[in-house]
Amino acid sequence: MKLEIQPIEHLKPRIEDETQLVFGKQFSDRMFVMDYQRGQGWHSARIQPYQPFVLDPAAMVLHYAQEIFEGMKAFRRPDGQIALFRPLDNMHRFNRSAERMCMPEIDAEFMLESIKELVRLEADWVPHTEGTSLYIRPAMIASEPMLGVRPADEYLCYVIVCPVGAYYKGGLAPVKIWMSDHYVRAAHGGTGEVKTGGNYAASLYAARQAAEQGYDQVLWLDAEEKRFIEEVGSMNVCFVLDGRLVTSPLSGTILDGITRRSILTLAQEQGLEIEERALAVDEIFAAADDGRLTEAFGVGTAVVVSPIGQLTYKDRTAKIGDGQTTGPWTQKFYDTLTGIQYGRLPDTHGWVELL
Ligand SMILES: *Cc1c(COP(=O)(O)O)cnc(C)c1O
Repeated sequence: MKLEIQPIEHLKPRIEDETQLVFGKQFSDRMFVMDYQRGQGWHSARIQPYQPFVLDPAAMVLHYAQEIFEGMKAFRRPDGQIALFRPLDNMHRFNRSAERMCMPEIDAEFMLESIKELVRLEADWVPHTEGTSLYIRPAMIASEPMLGVRPADEYLCYVIVCPVGAYYKGGLAPVKIWMSDHYVRAAHGGTGEVKTGGNYAASLYAARQAAEQGYDQVLWLDAEEKRFIEEVGSMNVCFVLDGRLVTSPLSGTILDGITRRSILTLAQEQGLEIEERALAVDEIFAAADDGRLTEAFGVGTAVVVSPIGQLTYKDRTAKIGDGQTTGPWTQKFYDTLTGIQYGRLPDTHGWVELL
């Protein structure tokens, strides 16, 4: 397929002060779009001016949520080069999500080349300050106007990008986590391992309850027993317990995070034994009580690594360390991953793709 680059007339004003960037609010001048019709396949791939879509009110995505997305970042390095982090992994995950949601797969290599071209054209939108990046949001939606419940015959696949500020301005700051004993995110056989908007819509109610009680995020427990740790918001979650890195297994209900995967590799390399296993809430509280739970942190593209200061379940709260300080492993993973992304550390795994 050929990628058409359309001319652009008006450029938007930029936010000059990179400390004022708000995540997901300001988008660049251009976007990537391609169309799909059953029988014809993907076609009309183009980079065009960023603009609203015209969607029929009956478009199936608006009624039955047939939608998937991805999240990745482009980093500006001190030498001016722009780097992507394991971008082909995102493309493959996009296709796994598409399969589960009965949507057409994309050509992973072509899609990645198109994303690279978009970022090249929008290079001025990649911010310069340490810790900032250009967030890349690929998405696919069912655009066919039709109210019957079945997989659509028409889709739009598109990519938009937005500059994001440094997530942590004054160093890593531990968050307060709430575990719901009632609401669940995903059950076996459901769509927990799919990056689809519906999972997020279903999570908002519990997230609002958590926020009203002063917590930053919800940690989801398994749907069957509400006993085992799953993941947090848009992050996988890791614990340093008895001197080992413990994280939930990929059993179909959590997202197969690329940051999670990378942290597991780095942990092994740095001599921290890893355990991908079911971890019960009781075990967390017991280990916190006798000092064996030394660190807890969320991992995902948006935050990289987010230290957890305390965990609350019903009327029990476990403090991790003193609740205020970022643990040494947490800090090390943050420094190592961002080091590789921004080119301060060598990329020994072939994770980085320069534009
Ligand atoms: C995207 C996402 C993650 C993190 O995945 P990364 O590839 O590391 O960014 C974790 N959990 C959920 C629910 C997600 O949507």
